[in-house]
Amino acid sequence: MKDKVIVVLSGGLDSTTCMAIAHAEGQDIFPLTFVYGQKHTVELEAARKVAEYYGVAERHKIINLEGLLFGSSLTDKDKDIPTGRTLEEIGEGIPSTYVPARNIVFLALALAQAEPLGARAIYLGVNALDFSGYPDCRPEFIAAFQEVINRGTAAGVEGRGIRLETPLINLTKAEIIKKGLELGAPYHLTYSCYQGTVPSCGVCDACILRLKGFREAGAIDPIPYRQFSALCR
Ligand SMILES: [Zn+2]
Repeated sequence: MKDKVIVVLSGGLDSTTCMAIAHAEGQDIFPLTFVYGQKHTVELEAARKVAEYYGVAERHKIINLEGLLFGSSLTDKDKDIPTGRTLEEIGEGIPSTYVPARNIVFLALALAQAEPLGARAIYLGVNALDFSGYPDCRPEFIAAFQEVINRGTAAGVEGRGIRLETPLINLTKAEIIKKGLELGAPYHLTYSCYQGTVPSCGVCDACILRLKGFREAGAIDPIPYRQFSALCR
């Protein structure tokens, strides 16, 4: 029997793969998208198209957090998004594209939707491999938030637990892409670029890791790019 599940859907490659996985499992999907002042609002349109592709556009919820999250090069006008970085540079420390408390806020609000809906799981497309310096994408954070759900909700304490599903957490970008392609994920509808340009810039960390993932998966990225960094030519 299908469970109601929330899928946090940004419109990027990872969250779209989560949609494909939940769909393949036969889950009853409720997509949830956040607008938080990100420079790449183009991804909102991508999220809408992906929800439509899976036939759940009418229950796609978009929560507006504009002006509430800041302190990141993804959100702040006076902070530049890094471009043209080498893999060593991308892998070093916590990137300026880290948005303070973002996944904590996203998960808290996803939980606030999930519990009254009777959803049994929240799908989040975090992945800890491939140079992610984001502390709120790591397995220890996910385990800690599962504890929050178990102890801090009626569903949790009364035994109707809500699972935090992170099916990509131990996969490389190439493995994520292979899995998505197997499941028919509509990558042509997705958008990942941090800069928000159309076509995608090709030189920010998100573009570089995405292009590298497709190359390592032996596949062609179906979306257009403005240029390619030396790493992705
Ligand atoms: Zn880019």
